[in-house]
Amino acid sequence: MEKIRIGVDLGGSHVSIGAVNNQGTIIKQLEKDYTIEEKKDILNVAINYITYAIIELKKEFDFNSFGLGMAGIIKNGIIMRSPNIDGAKNFEIKKILEEKTNMSVNVENDAICAAIAEYKFGHIKDYNNIIFLTLGTGIGGNIIYNGKIREEEEYQELGHTIIKENGIKCKCGQNGCFERYGSILVFKKKVMERLNLPQNLDGPTLREHIRLNEDKIEDIKEEYINDIVLGLSILINRFNPDLIVLGGGFARYDYLFLDKIQNRLKENVPIKVAELGNDAGIIGASIL
Ligand SMILES: [Zn+2]
Repeated sequence: MEKIRIGVDLGGSHVSIGAVNNQGTIIKQLEKDYTIEEKKDILNVAINYITYAIIELKKEFDFNSFGLGMAGIIKNGIIMRSPNIDGAKNFEIKKILEEKTNMSVNVENDAICAAIAEYKFGHIKDYNNIIFLTLGTGIGGNIIYNGKIREEEEYQELGHTIIKENGIKCKCGQNGCFERYGSILVFKKKVMERLNLPQNLDGPTLREHIRLNEDKIEDIKEEYINDIVLGLSILINRFNPDLIVLGGGFARYDYLFLDKIQNRLKENVPIKVAELGNDAGIIGASIL
């Protein structure tokens, strides 16, 4: 049987389990989108699906451990908190999964998983000090410093860096957090509102509307670019990186923003877009 590694990406809308080979390629993937009803009980639904998927993959591949990445603060296999998943507070997910699957399980923050994957298999191997940001529903991120990922809590909360005094209220209790301006969701919501589009529109259709209406959303785009530049400048001055990597949902819209962000950024730090896209979470979790 082929030796592979298994990685799990546990998100707020779906859970994916992938078998990853030595080159960092997903060769088989099992995935479940939650129904509206299931979203009220994500952790139990996801744990049951992971258990089923592990049994299925075991029929085909040789492994006795797996890794799991998810949003939030994770310590020693316990979810301390996870803003987008109900009930995810002091939840012993590692212990529960180990009991259910008879495997050894490693659990880590999903942005850390994505950074590990990009660092090992992506195009950022030659840099030492990297700010890695995932611009998605919120902003996740972390810092690679001297080639090592900084796992301290303060380096995992980059999305809650305050970029505007007395700015928009954030879920975390502060005002003016970077994620209230720079997440790709903020941009998408403003566009959908401007163009009178339904909020549940899929990505490809939204991008087609953007292409056809670029003149109508020019100011939204400009504002988004300026806010990203503002946030990045603050992070650059704090951490002095030699590279910034932007990933998450942003990677599907980078063609709208990237050149302008790079041009307007006064600090001369190169910006790259994450290469592995949505696969990074699974690939990173598989090598925890
Ligand atoms: Zn915040």
